[in-house]
Parts: sequence; C-alpha cells; structure tokens
Amino acid sequence: MLILKLGGSVVTHKDEYMSAHTGNIKRLAEEIAEADAYPLVIVHGGGSFGHPVAKKHGIADGMVDRSQVFGFSETHQAMVKLNEVIVDLLLKAGVPAFAISPSSMLRTDGRRLNELDTGLVKKFIELSMVPVLYGDAVLDSDQSFAILSGDQLIAKLSNDLGAGRVIFGSDVDGIFTDNPKLNPDARLIETVSISGNEANVGDTTHTDVTGGMLGKLSEAAEAVRGGADVLMVNALVPGRVKAALRGEKVIGTVLTL
Ligand code: ADP
Repeated sequence: MLILKLGGSVVTHKDEYMSAHTGNIKRLAEEIAEADAYPLVIVHGGGSFGHPVAKKHGIADGMVDRSQVFGFSETHQAMVKLNEVIVDLLLKAGVPAFAISPSSMLRTDGRRLNELDTGLVKKFIELSMVPVLYGDAVLDSDQSFAILSGDQLIAKLSNDLGAGRVIFGSDVDGIFTDNPKLNPDARLIETVSISGNEANVGDTTHTDVTGGMLGKLSEAAEAVRGGADVLMVNALVPGRVKAALRGEKVIGTVLTL
C-alpha cells in the first residue's frame, strides 16, 4: 500500500488565488500512471484554494459566529474545485482515480482525527481504484468545524490502512537544516530521525493554515511510528515522484524512528 501526498505548493500556484497548476498536475498524473504502483491512495493539499479562504473566515479556529458557515462551505467548495481538476487529469492519464470528500466521511475532535472508518476507502482500493482525498473543512466535535490538513489525514490513513510507504511530494528536495526558501546555506538532510531535531523547520513562505513544514514533520512522524517508510521528495522535479513510487532511490529525505 502506497500513499502519495501532492502538496498544495505543487498542485497550485501558491501566490495566485485559486489557480491550479495544471502543468504540474498533468505531468504528475502521467508519472503516477507510468509508475504503475498499486494499491495507491492520493491525498492533496489546498495551496491557493483552501488556505486563503479558510484564513479569511477563521475556519481553523472553529465557529465563533454563525455567519462563518458560509466561509466554511466556501472553503470546502474551493477544495472540491481543486480536487475536480486533479481527478479529471488523473483519469485522463489512465489512473483509475476516485474523489472522496473527507468532510462527508469523517469528523475531528478538537482538531484531531481520532477515528477513521477506512471501510469505504478499502472497498475502493479492493476494486482497484485510487481514492483521491484532500485537506478539507470538516465538522469538529469541540469547535463545530475545523481544518483537517492533508498531512494529518495521511498519517491516519497510513496507520489505519497499514501503508508500507508514504511519499510526501512538495516544492523542496526534502527537509533542510533551515528553510531553503529563506536561507541559501540550508543543506538537505538525507535522513531525519523523528526523535531528534536536526532541522530548523519553520513556517512556509506562503499562507498556510495548517502548520507548514513543522506540522508536516510531526504528522509524518506518526506514519513512521506506525511502521511506514516515509520519504519526502521534490515533486516539481520531473521523475522524482515516479521513481519514489517505484521504490527506486531518489533524492529526498527519509524519515526514521
Ligand atoms: P506543501 O504545500 O507542499 O504541503 P508546505 O508549503 O506546507 O508544503 O511546506 C513546504 C515548505 O516548507 C517549503 O517550501 C519551505 O518553504 C518550508 N520549510 C520551512 N522549513 C523547512 C525546512 N527545514 N526544510 C524544508 N522546507 C522547509
């Protein structure tokens, strides 16, 4: 079982409001088809779709005013739109993708995904389909609603489905000693132990309501603890995702216990 994360920084133009990066998505869809590595689950991030809308309406902090229900729905709709572009291009490339809306199948408790009924996801996989989920605006038992990041969803899916390998595709080569977008001296760390703190991981350089690289690392650590091989690769570099899906050695960061 493989799980692939397509970061919001890869599938959208992060600086252009609600702009899908169809060039990247099309190339990645072809790489996924060529890799021919199944069973596979894909989760994508929000980039310039979900994050700015969620931020504008304060969705991550929950409901303090009823008028936010519009913003809650708009955040979800933004993700549905991005998901549609991605699933359409996957199908065109020959990947049997199927869109699954996280908000229709799960709830969080205090922003955390405690229970996940994976029966439905498993059934799609059994029928040789590739479920495509995403970070979403979801109902929350404590604060009415919340933002579930694609990264948190991956950690839970990985553990509940018993994934063997989880690949995080982002816009940098992996985890660096510091944010490579801000520090030109930052070096790639090929192996990061989740119990150590070799990297100075900080915020992303873009609007992100779910915690940037630090949040990603702590979610990925959950998948490592659950027994999956976790790899972070640069999905902007052609061929890397395909190689990683095939289990070939590729430039990136491997997370270990
Ligand atoms: P995605 O949208 O692909 O899921 P994010 O934008 O949330 O990814 O996180 C990736 C970003 O994290 C990088 O573009 C980089 O700006 C930032 N970052 C911060 N600290 C680090 C670090 N130590 N190593 C790598 N990236 C880092």
